[in-house]
Amino acid sequence: MNPSKWFRELLANWKRKREEAALLKRYGCVCYCRKCRAILGDAQTLNESEYQYTCGECQCVSVFNFDIAPMPILVRFDGEQVYP
Ligand SMILES: [Zn+2]
Repeated sequence: MNPSKWFRELLANWKRKREEAALLKRYGCVCYCRKCRAILGDAQTLNESEYQYTCGECQCVSVFNFDIAPMPILVRFDGEQVYP
């Protein structure tokens, strides 16, 4: 690996970790895109337990339920029911 690529990846990792830490501090959890593993940031409230995220990288739509378990559960992804 050449040094500039190494440095770019180091910087990208650092930015990702900082973004994860900010979300953890604010919401207590971090949700990721199932397809591309991008961090999902701002959510749209669907009802009192479900939140919808649109991936900033691949535009896939994820719906998470925050009420079933101690952590968010992916219930729908890209229009497809995932859970239950
Ligand atoms: Zn994605």
